[in-house]
Amino acid sequence: MPELPEVEMARRYLQATSLHQTILSARVLDERILSGVTAARMDRALTGRQFDCAMRHGKRLFLKLQDDLWLTLHLGLTGMLIHLESGQDEPNHTRLLVIYESGSRLAFDDLRIFGEAGITKSPQLFIKERNIGPDALQQDLNGFLESMIGRKGLIKPALLNQRLVAGLGNLYADEALFQAGICPMARSLSVEQLTDLFSSFQEVLKTSIAVHAHLDELPRSYLLPHRHPGGRCPLDGALLSREKIGGRTSYYCPMHQKMKKS
Ligand SMILES: [Zn+2]
Repeated sequence: MPELPEVEMARRYLQATSLHQTILSARVLDERILSGVTAARMDRALTGRQFDCAMRHGKRLFLKLQDDLWLTLHLGLTGMLIHLESGQDEPNHTRLLVIYESGSRLAFDDLRIFGEAGITKSPQLFIKERNIGPDALQQDLNGFLESMIGRKGLIKPALLNQRLVAGLGNLYADEALFQAGICPMARSLSVEQLTDLFSSFQEVLKTSIAVHAHLDELPRSYLLPHRHPGGRCPLDGALLSREKIGGRTSYYCPMHQKMKKS
């Protein structure tokens, strides 16, 4: 599932391939991809306009059509954005196709249709309406501490809660907890632990973006390359534990991510 680094790669891809070209039409091939908008409205909003810029907030993408008109996209589980030159075949699970006057196209391909495409007046309004929290890379430490201090629940689901911090998913939340030496089942973390966790998730996200979200290029000291059954902690060699927490499979090191620091 695409998390913040993967969505940032998609934003850069859009920036490089899909801006400043007049749109001939927007064809909805599967209406299940639409959120709060009809196929006719989608087509009307895009036709004759251009995308001026591509923005990201958490796992959401926004393409500007004009000051008060934006296309919003969420890649869901399997969504992909693919720019096609004329003559190139559309991918098999294209749900939305933006056709440019030049003959090139932008395909939103999504096998499982957990993705979304919609229209909004502004990213700020959309974020407010959906109650989405601050972007994980834009958030400041004080804001993070404020939203986390005094929470009673487990830390892992809190990190995945997009209303508290937007952009982290299962993999990068596990990595951040691993780097900070915090057990995913821990609760009521100290200010010191939360501060470590904040630094960890920012560092992890930036590192992943720096390697273009290629997980196999992450440092070997990271959890992600070892995050599979039988995997061992790259720091101390312990067999990694696997646990369902809040419905998501978590990996962590039982040695250095203990519930209580000794
Ligand atoms: Zn360890």
